[in-house]
Amino acid sequence: MTDPDTTPGRAAPGQVAATAPVLVVNAGSSSLKYRLVEPSAGHTLATGLIERIGEGHPRARHTGSDCTTERELDCPDHESAFQVALAAFAEHGPPLRAADLLAVGHRVVHGGSRFAAPVLVDDDVIAQIEALVPLALLHNPGNLAGLRAARAAFGGIPQVAVFDTAFHQTLPPAAYTYAVPRDWRDRLHVRRYGFHGTSHAYVSRRVAALLGRPPQATNAVVLHLGNGASACAVEGGRSIDTSMGLSPLGGLVMGTRPGDLDPAIAPYLSRHGIPVLAYDEALNHDSGLRALAGSNDFREVMRLVEAGDADARLAVEVAAYRIAKYVGGYAVALGRLDALAFTGGIGEHSAALRADVVGRLAVLGLELDTAANAAASGESRISTPASAAQVWVVPTDEELEIARHAVAVVRAGHPSA
Ligand code: ADP
Repeated sequence: MTDPDTTPGRAAPGQVAATAPVLVVNAGSSSLKYRLVEPSAGHTLATGLIERIGEGHPRARHTGSDCTTERELDCPDHESAFQVALAAFAEHGPPLRAADLLAVGHRVVHGGSRFAAPVLVDDDVIAQIEALVPLALLHNPGNLAGLRAARAAFGGIPQVAVFDTAFHQTLPPAAYTYAVPRDWRDRLHVRRYGFHGTSHAYVSRRVAALLGRPPQATNAVVLHLGNGASACAVEGGRSIDTSMGLSPLGGLVMGTRPGDLDPAIAPYLSRHGIPVLAYDEALNHDSGLRALAGSNDFREVMRLVEAGDADARLAVEVAAYRIAKYVGGYAVALGRLDALAFTGGIGEHSAALRADVVGRLAVLGLELDTAANAAASGESRISTPASAAQVWVVPTDEELEIARHAVAVVRAGHPSA
């Protein structure tokens, strides 16, 4: 696997400069997010978001050299959305000429068992990502539309696909195997894949650096807590277990997803007239914090808790209890826990949730520094010196990780670059 951290910062004259920017693209079914990144220093040169592509009233926002612009537009598909993004660069900067780009890096959600590392995109890779669509109906089609649009817009520029699942391809069979019939496993590829891998990889490497240890000598549990949420056990830089499974529905309680459930619930509901499509829809959009507290926005849930709302309090308890159980389980899987890291919108910003989770982990010898937790901003240590493992807040940066992977893949293909 290419290591984005080994990418040198400079190239000799006449070679592809590592400091040339990478356009990072995260294409959803009806949205296109982009960020122009200078990968060596990690500077963001521009960001943008085009939403409601192919739906009513698409909107585009672009933050360029010196201003943010927003406008409504006509944007029937991802290819026209790409043209809108290019026009925004031309109008509001910074100048974006294809010739100046080192690569376009794409977030692709599901790489199945096929992709254990980022790859240079060609027709064969597109076909393989397409073949994985049945495993990721909600995600891969949008990712593919973004890939095709970027290839159409930037013909000669290397396109690199970076998979959410790739970091977890190191899971041992005991962690990825579901105890289900062989035919489901062999023919239908039913197993744990795991997601948020780009974030878990970035944060676990940062944690090792913050501890002053090589990643190979660091055991950490990373909690990515955003709208989607997952835990990951990272042993010596490799993912050995993670809470999401075949799909991003499993594991922790999320904004609108339930996390782990008794598998018997689906047939039980079906016998009571709830068809599988309604079940799927409810589990993706109407479960989790939204189902328990009435809102999927954690800030709102905490406002309700402070106002004495019992449902919201239970929702936070269910979520924190589940997180703590996973950390306990992963401490067993790792054998030795050096660090626990919080990331994602909730992990980075909710001191209350962090305090709740760490408070439940006293059995592991974890001890929160209450003042440091309350004051945490950016990368911050929030455990006391007496804590058995260090606890950190580490803001994730998936786009930078994707950009650095893209550089590493391009360099691997052009060793002189
Ligand atoms: P996504 O998974 O869509 O990238 P984020 O990582 O941005 O989501 O996380 C979004 C979640 O973070 C929301 O539930 C939001 O309420 C929560 N969040 C953001 N800021 C805060 C804050 N200051 N305190 C508590 N929760 C926050």
